[in-house]
Amino acid sequence: MAVNLTQYHSILSQLEKAGATLVAVSKTKPVEDIAALYEAGQRDFGENYVQELVDKAAALPKDIRWHFIGHLQSNKVKYIAPFVHLVHGVDSLRLLQEIGKQATKHNRCIDCLLQLHIATEETKFGLSENELEELLNIVSANPLTGVRIRGLMGMASFTSDEQAVQTEFHQLKHIFDRYGKGNWDILSMGMSGDYQLALAEGSTLVRIGSLLFGERDKN
Ligand SMILES: *Cc1c(COP(=O)(O)O)cnc(C)c1O
Repeated sequence: MAVNLTQYHSILSQLEKAGATLVAVSKTKPVEDIAALYEAGQRDFGENYVQELVDKAAALPKDIRWHFIGHLQSNKVKYIAPFVHLVHGVDSLRLLQEIGKQATKHNRCIDCLLQLHIATEETKFGLSENELEELLNIVSANPLTGVRIRGLMGMASFTSDEQAVQTEFHQLKHIFDRYGKGNWDILSMGMSGDYQLALAEGSTLVRIGSLLFGERDKN
């Protein structure tokens, strides 16, 4: 499946107006497709699986900024700690501590986003607002080294009900403003099907896969 460069430039111009960043989600797609988008100027790419990310990072140019957007297991942090640019889906204190520990081994400080559960589906990962507040209280009492919380990430419900999706993004933005208190600068929300709604609600970073790379095989 070829990369859709027309779509890429159209998305970029929409993001430019909104002042938002594009993370091209390349999970399951071959390195050739990533290289094609890299040639067009794209530098931020997102992956969901640790082994796949490690393999692709080794095979592709070193100035790519790799975003880990999947559910990260604590025992796998060490594999991506040397190079990962931003970890989007952090949803426990234990994971945050492990990222800090592994980052410190490489003299790094890794930027992280805390994942909020905003969708109605039960399968999606993420913190509730209460859990977020609790985590932030612990971290402010005992500051962590090796990690920096830059903001929040969330996934809206998988539904064609635009009003429902918009409401979820609106809530996430509200929580972002409330707990970030002006110190956070990254709100990661919006995918191929809902990024325009996310931008309208204040997203600063969208994660787009299938619009750029074509549909993925369902697994
Ligand atoms: C796969 C994935 C995306 C991209 O999804 P598309 O609908 O293909 O744009 C974005 N965010 C996360 C967390 C993903 O797992």
